[in-house]
Amino acid sequence: EEIRLEDLEGVGRITAQKLRAAGYYSVKDLAFASAHELALILGSEERAMAIIRAAQKLVSRGEEFITAKELFEKRKNIEYISTGVKSLDDLLEGGIEVGSLTELIGEFGAGKTQLCHQLSVIVQLPKEKGGLGARALYIDTEGTFRPERIIQIARARGLEPEKALENIIYARAYNSDHQMLLVDEAKKYIEKNNIRLIVVDSLINHFRSEYPGRENLASRQQKLNRHISQLHKLASLYNLAVVVTNQVMAAPDVFFGNPLRPAGGNIMAHGFTYRIWLRKAKEGKRIARIIDSPKHAEKEAAFAISEDGVTD
Ligand code: ADP
Ligand code: MG
Repeated sequence: EEIRLEDLEGVGRITAQKLRAAGYYSVKDLAFASAHELALILGSEERAMAIIRAAQKLVSRGEEFITAKELFEKRKNIEYISTGVKSLDDLLEGGIEVGSLTELIGEFGAGKTQLCHQLSVIVQLPKEKGGLGARALYIDTEGTFRPERIIQIARARGLEPEKALENIIYARAYNSDHQMLLVDEAKKYIEKNNIRLIVVDSLINHFRSEYPGRENLASRQQKLNRHISQLHKLASLYNLAVVVTNQVMAAPDVFFGNPLRPAGGNIMAHGFTYRIWLRKAKEGKRIARIIDSPKHAEKEAAFAISEDGVTD
C-alpha cells in the first residue's frame, strides 16, 4: 500500500496539493528532493528539511550505509536490457544497465535513434530473451520516432507488433520546458505501467536551439543540469534504465586528432554513467565505442542497421 503525502508529519491537504502541483507525487520523490528546491515551494528551508527527513525515514529505514561487500552482492543483481546485438552486449558487459544513465553520442545517421527504437522493443521481451518484461517511455524531441519501425523490429524479435506498440508510451517534447515537464509527468506512469526504460531522443536539441551563443551558456548548462538530475532521480528511485542521445559538434580549437566533441560540455560528461559514441564506418557498418565508464575500458564493437533493426 502506497503511503500518501498527507501521511507525512507536517504535510496537510493544502501542502500536499502544492507539492503535487510542483511534481512531487510520492514520499519517495520527497525523500530525494533538494531542500533548496522544496523551500521555494514551501516558503522555508527549515520546513523543507523537516519534510525531507520525515520522508527519508519512511523510505530508507536507516540503511544508507552498507559495506562494499554488500554493495558488490547488490550489484550482482543489477539487471540489463540487451541491445539485441551480441557485439554491443559484449562491449557493454551485458547491455544497458538498469538504474543508470546511458548516453548515445554520434553524428547524424550514426544509428542513435535506431538503437532507441530497438531498446524500446527489447525491454518488452522476457528476461531469458534479454528484456525485462516491461514497457518503455519514449520522449521524442526531434520528431524522428516511427511506429512503423517498431513494427519491423518487433516482428524480427518475435513480438506481436500491436502489443509492442501498446507497450511504448510516447510523447513529443516541443521545447526544453515541455521536455522537463514531461519527465516530471512521467512519474505518474512509471509504476502503474511497469516502465523500466526511459528514452530521451535527443536530450539536447531544444536546449541548444533555445540558448544559443556564449551569453546564454551559463543558463543553458544550469537548466540542462537540472534536467539530467531529474533523470538520475527516476533511474534510481524506480530502478529503470535511462537512455538519451546527444549530438556532436565541431570544436573550433582542435587542429590535431578528432575535431568532434559531444555537445553539452562538462554537464553532459559528468551527468552520464556510460557514454557510447556511435559512428558510421565502411560499407554501411557502424562502430560503437565506450568513451566514458566507471567499469569498462575504452574499446569498440561493430554493428549494422537493417530492416530488422540494429544487428550484428
Ligand atoms: P541518428 O544517429 O541520427 O539518430 P538514425 O538512428 O536515425 O541516426 O539512423 C539512420 C540510419 O539508419 C539511416 O541512415 C539508415 O542507414 C538506417 N536505417 C533506418 N531505417 C532503416 C531500415 N528500415 N533498413 C535499413 N536501414 C535503416
Ligand atoms: Mg536521431
